[in-house]
This record gives sequence, C-alpha cells and structure tokens, in this order.
Amino acid sequence: MTLIKDISIKEVIRPLMVLFSTSLGKKNLLKSIIVKVRLNNGLEGTGECPTSFVSRFEDLESIKGFLKKILPGLINTPIDIYNEKIGLLRKDYRDFPMTISGLEVALFRAYLKTLNKNEHQFWGSKTNEIETDITIPFITEKEPLDRWLRYSVKKGFKIFKIKVSGHIEEDIKLLSYIYGFLSNSLGAFHIRLDGNQGFTAHSLMRFLEKIERKGFDIQLFEQPLLKNDYKGMEAVKKNSRIPIILDETVFNGDDMTRVTSYGLCDGVNIKVAKSGVSESLNITNTARKHGLKLMVGCMTETMVGLSTGIYMASGNGVFDFVDLDSVFYLHHKNIYDDILLKPPFFVISTDKK
Ligand SMILES: [Mg+2]
Repeated sequence: MTLIKDISIKEVIRPLMVLFSTSLGKKNLLKSIIVKVRLNNGLEGTGECPTSFVSRFEDLESIKGFLKKILPGLINTPIDIYNEKIGLLRKDYRDFPMTISGLEVALFRAYLKTLNKNEHQFWGSKTNEIETDITIPFITEKEPLDRWLRYSVKKGFKIFKIKVSGHIEEDIKLLSYIYGFLSNSLGAFHIRLDGNQGFTAHSLMRFLEKIERKGFDIQLFEQPLLKNDYKGMEAVKKNSRIPIILDETVFNGDDMTRVTSYGLCDGVNIKVAKSGVSESLNITNTARKHGLKLMVGCMTETMVGLSTGIYMASGNGVFDFVDLDSVFYLHHKNIYDDILLKPPFFVISTDKK
C-alpha cells in the first residue's frame, strides 16, 4: 500500500515587478508556502498555498500554523484516499480554502504519479497551447503605468485585464489612458475589467453608462460587487451588456450551485489556488451545465501553483478566457518542467512525454 511518508513546507517570498494594486489592497511581494508530499515509494508532489487579499485570514503565519496542526493526521495514511481527507478538511476548516487547495494539489500530484499519469493527461490533453491575458493593476501614476504597459506590449500580450477601483472618475481616466496607449501600440487588443468587489450596483451602472458613452469595447467584467451582494448582482446581471464573471463569490461547487440557481452571472473565474482540484471540477461541471462562460485564473503564485491552472486549461480545453499571468510579475526563465513560456502563450512541450 502506498502511504504518505512525510509532508514538508517551505516559505517563498519573491519581489513583484510592479506594485500589484487592486480595490482590495496593494502589495509588492509574492508570499507563498510550498507544500511537498513524499510517499513511501519515493514519489513526490508539490503544491502552493499563495496569500491573497481575497482570503485575508490566510497569511504566512496562519498558513504555517494551520498546516502544522493538520499535517500529522495525514502521515502514514494511504495516498489513494487523500481526496476524502481533503473533503473533510474543507468542511472542518472553512477559513483555510487556499491552504487546503495547495495541500490538495501536492497530494493530487503525488497520487497521479502512482497512477503513472501526468497532469495534462489527467485533464484530457485537449490542447497544447493556451493564450493568457496580462493584468494591469490599478496604477494612477503615469511613469509606473507606462512602464508596465510597455513591458506587457513588448512581451506580446494582446489581452489586458485592468483592475478598476470603484472610484468611477479615476477608473474612467485610467481606462481612457490605457485605451489610448494600446491603440497607439497595437493593431488589435482586448480589454477585460476586474472590480474586485469595489462597486455597488448603483455605482456600477453609472460606470457602465460612461463606458458605453465612451464606446469602450469590454470583453467581460469580473466581480464588480461585494461577494455576498446577491441582490445587487441580480440587478446588475439584468442590466449589464458586458458579461459579468464572478470570482470571489465562488470558491466551491456549492457556491456555484447557489449562484446559478439565482442566475447571478454570465460566467465564473475558476482558480485551482482558491478551489483546489476536485472543487474546480465541480464548479466547472455546474457552470457548463448551465451554459456559463468559463474563465481560469490565478493568485500571485509561482509556477508551482500556476502550472496546475495551465495543465487544467490546456488539458480540458473548455475555458473561454484565460487569466494565468502571475509568472509574468516575476523574473522567470522561459521553461518550467514541460511548460514553455512564450508570452502570451503557454505551450506544453510534447517532447518529454
Ligand atoms: Mg479576480
């Protein structure tokens, strides 16, 4: 029987190339805990527990404290029942969704190796290439904004996700500036918006009117309202011509079911970092059943975590929008295992299979 032999954790802190600023807060460092699972047959799996404004309770110290408490309960248990254990942890510790997801990924990867399967195959091996957008943080100073826009254009990105703040005048100013910059630099481009809960239904409708008057073509609007503002979301869904994609509102399959039963959105942003593997699958299945748009996203993660999203999206081939850009905030080489970084694309190399 294959047992979990040990699980180690390691802290990772990396500088970000630009101040990551959203309506939820600002940061210039990536801070994560890397979890490494080792089985008694020597096989290993790693996962990442990132930190995010989205789950403020999960900072480095609380992640480490929580893992130290729960990991002993997994040692010497069979790897093939890891999924049940993760399910129980999710029920018992609702404040640690991202930590449990990072742990789940490490266990999942070790388990896949016992099946002699790779992650891309697990998800279906549908495509070998995906194109990601790049995020433009909410930057109000010209110099750093220009620098980040120049970097993004030079790297080859054609799709830009702008973090808007909920302060309508400032958001319109930022959007107008970015529109001008991109129109001068690129023949064609797409714009997405992420409100990170910064709007009310009322302020959003005013913002959308201004966008329409300016003639800006917006592909989607992610999480404009507070994650629990169901009433507001219902109103917005009825009135917005731009597809509304929920992110912070949906962490697990139950959230997705609730959201679809009220018809609150046009799509959902699925992140392995927040939902783990099996809940990401549950969300995907429910969303597809209801004909919703599918977006795949990330937190500020290294390739340890980001790669799960890359394998999922290229493997299952079902995502309409790909937002897997965190590695482009870091200095990184152009290869990670069998993933080639060819911005704006990730290419799964078939040589190694
Ligand atoms: Mg988001």
